[in-house]
Amino acid sequence: MKYFDYAATTPPHPDVIRTMAEIMETHFGNPSSIHGYGERADQLLRRARSGCAAAIGVKPEEIVFTSGATESNNLAIKGAALRYQSRGRHIITTATEHASVYESFMQLQQWGWEVTLVPVNSDGEVNAEQVVDAIRPDTVLVSLMHVNNETGAIHPIAEIGNQLKKKAPRVLFHVDGVQGFGKMKATPAAWGADLYSLSAHKIRGPKGAGLLYVRSGVELTPLLSGGSQEQGLRAGTENVALLVGMAKAMRMAAEDQVDFARRTTVLRDRLMETIRVIPEFELNSSPEGAPHIVHFSYPGMKAEVALHTLEQLGVTISTQSACSSRSAEPSRALLAMGRDAACAGGGLRISLGDEHTEEDVALLEQALHQMVAQLRPLERR
Ligand code: PLP
Repeated sequence: MKYFDYAATTPPHPDVIRTMAEIMETHFGNPSSIHGYGERADQLLRRARSGCAAAIGVKPEEIVFTSGATESNNLAIKGAALRYQSRGRHIITTATEHASVYESFMQLQQWGWEVTLVPVNSDGEVNAEQVVDAIRPDTVLVSLMHVNNETGAIHPIAEIGNQLKKKAPRVLFHVDGVQGFGKMKATPAAWGADLYSLSAHKIRGPKGAGLLYVRSGVELTPLLSGGSQEQGLRAGTENVALLVGMAKAMRMAAEDQVDFARRTTVLRDRLMETIRVIPEFELNSSPEGAPHIVHFSYPGMKAEVALHTLEQLGVTISTQSACSSRSAEPSRALLAMGRDAACAGGGLRISLGDEHTEEDVALLEQALHQMVAQLRPLERR
């Protein structure tokens, strides 16, 4: 079986697993304890914090460790909205964001905040001018993803961040960087981002570890009550082993980023060409998008049927994103890109990783052709 669902999660790297296992066995102390066990754990945590900070070019004290990007996004959005509500209660995002961003906005809307969803174009990209034009005197936060998890569409984050800093410096800018880090250059401070979320398991690190970059001077209302860990922003004993694993995975991904993008772009372009010539398929990803994601629709077919047929043929891909693939609803992101319900409901995603080769892609292409040949008689017309 060949796995092509790296945007859902990646296999942890063997070096990361080894490092984490060693820490769990020998350095199990609580980093808040003042005895030797605690101090050793605290040293490891401090080293992990410096490593993560270095990988994105920020200061160690600007890193808040979390349980993953869902938590980072919740903390960034709700924490900023609650902290700065005296300035206003208007917040801006798009309809194509990950559920952890979109649903945080919907929850704030229920609590009385006003939400503006800036439209995206047919490739899923937001326009920088339209984002800036949506700013009002009571706007406190703009939250956008770097790379879309379903289609690989890239928002012009640097342009938006720089325009916001010039035209609306009081408005906080949060970037969900999960699908961009390791695939493209990630420099949140240079983009003008105030808040930036990452998750370890998308880059061959462990599940259950993530971070939020919080620019010096930005304040957040913590969402968890408890101890004063993570500069008082995230109560709870840190999972040192996982966080050291994340730091290692981030270092490896950052070092490999240019090469990763070069290798996967070749494979992605080849796959896009294959998908373009299969008459049943509609390509939803643009060649301008991220190097590791190819999204397409098979409008005449139920996406689960296509997925399971491919699985029988020896390849694993995804319907929509992992978080929404059990939902019967058409993709919110594809609908926002102007696709009809048949296209948005029949979405399939291929996502590539660092280990994929030309041979793997040839196997996948063969499976795609075979799948269509098998399913063509069942197509709904
Ligand atoms: N944001 C994006 C763009 C994602 O793709 C994901 C994971 O699917 C998340 C946030 C949530 O990350 P986590 O699984 O670490 O909670």
